[in-house]
Amino acid sequence: MTMNISDNIREVRAEIPSGVELVAVSKFHPSEVVMEAYSAGQRCFGESRVQELLEKEKELPRDIKWHFIGHLQTNKVKQLIGKTSLIESVDSERLLRLIDKESGKAGVVTNVLMQVHVAKEETKFGFYPEELLQFFTDRGFETLTNTHICGIMGMASNTDDLIRVREDFRNIADVFNRIANDSTLGLRGFDKLSMGMSGDWQIAVEEGANIVRIGTRIFGERQY
Ligand SMILES: *Cc1c(COP(=O)(O)O)cnc(C)c1O
Repeated sequence: MTMNISDNIREVRAEIPSGVELVAVSKFHPSEVVMEAYSAGQRCFGESRVQELLEKEKELPRDIKWHFIGHLQTNKVKQLIGKTSLIESVDSERLLRLIDKESGKAGVVTNVLMQVHVAKEETKFGFYPEELLQFFTDRGFETLTNTHICGIMGMASNTDDLIRVREDFRNIADVFNRIANDSTLGLRGFDKLSMGMSGDWQIAVEEGANIVRIGTRIFGERQY
């Protein structure tokens, strides 16, 4: 792989259909590297750790849109509020309520996606499809005052079996569509479906993703 980040950004942007938003996942890469992508025109970046996002947010240009994509611990919510354009990884109702409460205190509205768990790995976070559908049927979103639920995020199983991967994306998209198309819910602006990473984003887009989160393909391997 070429390690020219500007070229990588331009290549990936050229491959992704218009109407699909690219989140350049910059986790574990230093700010200078993010700046290279920024110089190539990229404005939306994804981070999975609160501290790392806050540090980069402080030193990088103001017009960057930061997406938080990792498991968010409740004790870090307060620090993150006001720093993101989208928290993609709301994986429990407790976390959602806390984001809402802290956003209220800070006087901001926080945009979030609900994370759905369909992959077979035990370690993945998120709502099971039935759980999330139940949350919406119970109208759990109605009591939110400072949080806007914009859609759903999900990951496919970590496998080479592309049939499985497609099945997982289809299941995530199905949950999304059932909620988005339920007019009795009266949701507004529930229209974002974030699925797909470096290895599987094409399949995700075929299954309906309108946000893709791509790290390795742009920045190379991460050093953990
Ligand atoms: C790290 C990460 C990505 C990017 O993965 P790549 O394989 O490097 O493209 C996407 N989504 C989430 C939730 C991640 O944690």
